[in-house]
Amino acid sequence: MGSDACTKACPEQALGIVNGKAYLVNPTVCIGHGACAATCPVEAITLVFGTERRGIDIPYVKPTFETNVSGIYIAGELGGMGLIRKATEQGCQAMEAIAGHRADGGRFDVVIVGAGPAGLSATLGAMAHQLRFVTLEQEESFGGTVYHYPPR
Ligand SMILES: Cc1cc2nc3c(=O)[nH]c(=O)nc-3n(C[C@H](O)[C@H](O)[C@H](O)COP(=O)(O)OP(=O)(O)OC[C@H]3O[C@@H](n4cnc5c(N)ncnc54)[C@H](O)[C@@H]3O)c2cc1C
Repeated sequence: MGSDACTKACPEQALGIVNGKAYLVNPTVCIGHGACAATCPVEAITLVFGTERRGIDIPYVKPTFETNVSGIYIAGELGGMGLIRKATEQGCQAMEAIAGHRADGGRFDVVIVGAGPAGLSATLGAMAHQLRFVTLEQEESFGGTVYHYPPR
């Protein structure tokens, strides 16, 4: 409808107005904040992983990557973003948001589940913000999927 709301809301400037309507003018910079869908006054935007025709549902997260369960954040592949760069950006940005809501008490400020690109990035963010954190990884290795890439 050309309200311009989504283009203004996108932190990465992935959207732009062309001939009075919003278009995905720079799709590769999108890291899935979902701010465009949240702000659209007519609910015209649907976030999918895959293609327009063959999309699958992805978890609904706020622009900070917090889910509808308060205090639980999702970053990276689990949220539908299948690239290393996007997973690391999301992990870092989620930790920025978590650092701003630091609660008193408890043993940890944050528990990071998984040491793939998203979890490692979140871990570095937690260190930078001097949060009390623990990173849990179910495997013996670090790096997540990257560690298991086929040789060459
Ligand atoms: C073969 C292949 C090639 C690829 N090539 C590229 C490429 O060239 N460029 C690119 O950008 N992307 C590539 N990708 C995609 C990229 O690897 C992923 O997008 C990226 O690894 C996602 O990072 P992540 O941290 O979100 O998840 P993951 O890498 O999947 O890491 C998640 C981690 O969480 C751990 N975990 C899960 N559940 C639990 C639990 N309950 N408790 C504790 N730990 C848990 C897992 O063991 C894992 O270590 C490729 C993927 C594959 C499979």
